[in-house]
Amino acid sequence: MARRIALVTGALGGLGQEICRTLARAGCAVIAADLPADDARRADFAAGNAGLEIAYAPLDVTDHAQCGALVNEVQARHGALDILVNNAGITRDATLRKMEIAQWDAVLRVHLDGAFNLCRHAIEGMQARGFGRIVNISSISGQTGNFGQTNYAAAKAGLHGLTMSLAREVAAKGVTVNSISPGYVETPMTRAMPAEVRDRIVATVPAGRIGQPGDIARAVAFLADDAAGYITGANLPVNGGLLMGF
Ligand code: NAD
Repeated sequence: MARRIALVTGALGGLGQEICRTLARAGCAVIAADLPADDARRADFAAGNAGLEIAYAPLDVTDHAQCGALVNEVQARHGALDILVNNAGITRDATLRKMEIAQWDAVLRVHLDGAFNLCRHAIEGMQARGFGRIVNISSISGQTGNFGQTNYAAAKAGLHGLTMSLAREVAAKGVTVNSISPGYVETPMTRAMPAEVRDRIVATVPAGRIGQPGDIARAVAFLADDAAGYITGANLPVNGGLLMGF
């Protein structure tokens, strides 16, 4: 991969850290954006980044102006923003019958508004430079629905709608927009699930194991590569065979 400038959101999370390191190992300068973090969390992240070009930037993806300021700062400092990975995410699970408006809003704001905010600010520069790679981290829950996740599944399905529409708008300008739909991956998000629920799901995965962050990061690097310019508007499932289709 050429030396590209990459911005990854949710960068301090389980998938985010691995995505940052994989892109940096591939030669990118990486801006690792996440909510303001305490020293311990930042130090923990930095400890795994030795020798890699990764810089942490505080960012709340739900704040449109903050997203604009960070994109402008990156472009001013590095001359470009080439790769955007919308990975920030939260869950606020409840059956619809019990779901509070705040739970619905919070999930849609992070996943959908967050992706919109960053794409909206990044897209003009990518089009003008004639190169861009946007990768949106969706979920198998958006493809199949999931009990207790009407908010999350709606947001993740909506994210792929954004992916396909934006892909059409910018395809002729050298910018690709794709989604990745992970199955179940071992991160703090899935560690928060009740163990018996997680074990029951993993028992149904044809690959016979839960996914690792590296499984997803490798797919991000593949779609972000200069050579992946003919793949756009696609959804790449990375789920150990849990959901197959074409
Ligand atoms: P995680 O909880 O480990 O990390 C998510 C990160 O997003 C956290 O570091 C958090 O601080 C950050 N974040 C939350 N709100 C934010 C905001 N407003 N602004 C900026 N950052 C914010 O979760 P993860 O498992 O690493 O998930 C990463 C992505 O992958 C999410 O979009 C998630 O929905 C998706 N995903 C995960 C799985 C899985 O099994 N872990 C499966 C499918 C999809």
